Amino acid sequence: MQLAARVGKVSPSITLAIAAKAKAMKAEGIDVCSFSAGEPDFDTPAHIKDAAKQALDQGKTKYGPAAGEPKLRSAIAKALKTIYNLDYQPENVIVTNGGKHSLFNLMLALIESGDEVIIPAPYWLSYPEMVTLAGGTSVIVQTTAANEYKITPEQLTQAITPHTKLFVLNSPSNPTGAVYTRAEIRALAEVVVKHDLLVVSDEIYAKILYDGVEHLSIGAVGSEIFSRTIVSSGFAKSYSMTGWRVGYIAGPVELIKAMSIIQGHSTSNVCTFAQYGAIAALASSQDCVAAMLSAFAQRRTVMFERLGAIPGLICPKPYGAFYLFVDISSTGMKSIDFCNALLASHQVAAIPGIAFGADQCVRLSYATDMTSIEKGMDRLHKFVSSL
Ligand code: GLU
Repeated sequence: MQLAARVGKVSPSITLAIAAKAKAMKAEGIDVCSFSAGEPDFDTPAHIKDAAKQALDQGKTKYGPAAGEPKLRSAIAKALKTIYNLDYQPENVIVTNGGKHSLFNLMLALIESGDEVIIPAPYWLSYPEMVTLAGGTSVIVQTTAANEYKITPEQLTQAITPHTKLFVLNSPSNPTGAVYTRAEIRALAEVVVKHDLLVVSDEIYAKILYDGVEHLSIGAVGSEIFSRTIVSSGFAKSYSMTGWRVGYIAGPVELIKAMSIIQGHSTSNVCTFAQYGAIAALASSQDCVAAMLSAFAQRRTVMFERLGAIPGLICPKPYGAFYLFVDISSTGMKSIDFCNALLASHQVAAIPGIAFGADQCVRLSYATDMTSIEKGMDRLHKFVSSL
């Protein structure tokens, strides 16, 4: 069969592949410690599940508007206003089939052949692939561990060409856990405005922050940057709703209309009763988010301390999300070889940094229970000592 050429230009998602392999090994009875996918291990909070069950019983089982249930679009706009000071109306919001779909749809609506998209590395692995699928070109900017893997305004400026259309900002970051400070966000906003670019701010981890650091949504800096900002987020990570597939984009109405048209010809609406779960997530107490965050915080402390005790491994302290991005250069191994050997010999699943544009690193997710963290870190220590 002659497949379309675009398929050959992208690779399978390594995060999904390794997570699936770890799950399959577990199903075979192998005692695997999985630090692979960024998927909270908690069950979805009961009140969210109850709202979806009620929606099912009330017959919310039919097609809905492609851009999302009006109640959910309103709830999202309200939350963005009250929490992040972003002045969006419901028509500025589209509900998508998860954060990944948000970004994919956005690229289809915005990017075409000849357009350049600036992506700081390490990056979440699907960004460049989405740009490629949309026919655009990724311009990857390497950041350094010394700067906590954050792009500087100077680096951003240097990467801009007459073809630059979009800058991808991800704070808190997957895979590094870095969180840009207010001053850093303001400085990047200034560059975006000066060069009249658009910025997509992937804020899927905005509620997962540690040690009192704060999230500043770049669009809240001022009206000039607000009109150039697109916010991408969803329910998966903060409410442990990964399988529900409910995400959203907020941005200029023209863009939201374009994305709705694409959605109308591709996915139609997101599962109707799942959207009622998302409405409950926003409308109810946020104690469930706080409880999960407190568990993540404890795990982060333990994992970071345990990592610090392994000679040769280096990792900047993460202030958000639920990942450690560990420099393994001292082992002299490529990240794929390191991860393959670690899984085969010590049954610990990690994601090779090459997937995120950093072959000298591996990503460890601590969105897993403390017992697995303790056991997995013992094994990682033994593995590294054996090299
Ligand atoms: N975003 C999560 C991760 O980076 C889930 C897997 C994926 O969607 O790629 O692990």
